[in-house]
Amino acid sequence: MKPSMKKIYMDYAATTPVDERVLEAMLPYFSGQFGNPSSIHLYGQEAEAALEDAREIIAQQMGVHSSEIVFTGCGTESDNLALRGVALARKSKTRADRILISPVEHHAVSHTAEQLADHFGFRLEYLKVDSYGIVDPDDLRRKIDRDVAIVSVIYGNNEIGSINPVEELGQICRANEIPFHTDAVQAAAHLSMKGLGNWCDLASFGAHKFYGPKGVGALFIRKGTSILPIQTGGGQEFGLRAGTQNVPYIVGMAKAFELAQMELQNMQPFLMQLRDKIIVSVQEFIKGAYLTGHPVDRLSNHASFVFEGVDGNQLLIHLDAAGFACSSGSACKTGDPKPSHVLLAIGISSQLALGSLRVTVGKYTTPDEVENFVNSLPVVIQNFRKLNEGIGKR
Ligand SMILES: *Cc1c(COP(=O)(O)O)cnc(C)c1O
Repeated sequence: MKPSMKKIYMDYAATTPVDERVLEAMLPYFSGQFGNPSSIHLYGQEAEAALEDAREIIAQQMGVHSSEIVFTGCGTESDNLALRGVALARKSKTRADRILISPVEHHAVSHTAEQLADHFGFRLEYLKVDSYGIVDPDDLRRKIDRDVAIVSVIYGNNEIGSINPVEELGQICRANEIPFHTDAVQAAAHLSMKGLGNWCDLASFGAHKFYGPKGVGALFIRKGTSILPIQTGGGQEFGLRAGTQNVPYIVGMAKAFELAQMELQNMQPFLMQLRDKIIVSVQEFIKGAYLTGHPVDRLSNHASFVFEGVDGNQLLIHLDAAGFACSSGSACKTGDPKPSHVLLAIGISSQLALGSLRVTVGKYTTPDEVENFVNSLPVVIQNFRKLNEGIGKR
C-alpha cells in the first residue's frame, strides 16, 4: 500500500519510506521480544535467534556465509569500517600505504580516505573516470601494486546514477591480492547482489535506501579479509563492531533487503519506464538541459540533470512549492552553495554544476505522478529563468 504523501515524492535516492511488511516484522522486537542478544537467558536467546535469522536472510540473498555479514549503524558507518578498518590493518601488517578511490565517491568514503591521508600517513590517489563518472579499469591496472592498502569504488552513484564495472575492478584487485570495497548503498535496491563475494571483499549497505528503517546498515566482509574494528568494546559482530545490536532495525533491514532483492525482476522495468519518461521529456522540452551520468548504465530509478542558467537550490524550492520533492544530488543542505565534487569530476563547469537536479522514483511512484512532473518542470524552469532575467536587468 502506498504511504500517504503530502507532496509528490521523487527523492528515493535520499531515503525511502519503510515498507509496511518491514514495519510489521520489526514491531515485536521493540517491547515484546526486547532482549539483549548477548544475554544467556531466554530473552537473550530470542533476540539472538532474530539477529542470526536476519544475518542468514541477508547472507542467503547475497550467496555468502552469514559470518561474513556485520551489522552497523548506517551505510556511512559501513563505509568507515571498510576503509579505515582495512587501511589500518593492512598498514600495520604489510606497510601498504596507498589508497585508491574514484573521484565520484559518496563523502562517507571520500572524507574517510582524506582523513586517512591527512592524519594517518596514507597516500590517497584517484582513479580516472570518464565523463559519465565510470572508472577506467585500465587505469586501475596501471596503478595497482602491492603498496595499495585498499581500493574503493562506488557501485551505483547516488548523484548521477552511473553504474561502475565493479565486477571487473574487483577481479583486477583479486588478481593482485588487494582488498576491494564497493559502496553498494544505492545499488542494493536496483541490482542483484547475488554472488558479490566472487568479486569483492567488502560491500556497504544501508537499509533506508531500500524501504528499511534509517540508522541501520551492514557490511559484507569476505572471510580472510584483514580488518580492525573502528568501534571497540564488547565482542559483538565478530569483534568488528562493539555495541548492543539494534535488533528491531536489523530484523527490518533483513526483511527489506529480502523483499528488494526478490522483487527486483518486477521493479526494474517499472522504474526504468518512469525514469526514461522523465529523461526523454526533459531532453525534449527543456532547452539547455543535460543528462548527467550514463544514459544506459544507470540505476533504474535515477534521472539527473544540469540546467543552464538555473540555481539548483532555488529550483528545489520552486519545485517544492509546486508540489514536488526532488534533490540537487546529495541530501546536503548547506548555506553556501558549492558545486558537487562528483559533477566537477566528470568535467562539468562549476557554473553549470550549480544548476543540478536529481529526480529519483520508487516503488510507490505512479505514472500519473511522473506525467504531472514532466508537464510541470518545463513551466517551473521557464518561470524561474524569466524571474532571474528580470533580476539581472534591474
Ligand atoms: C545514502 C548513502 C550513503 C550513506 O548511507 P547512510 O545510511 O545514510 O549513512 C553512502 N553511500 C551512498 C552511495 C549513499 O547513497
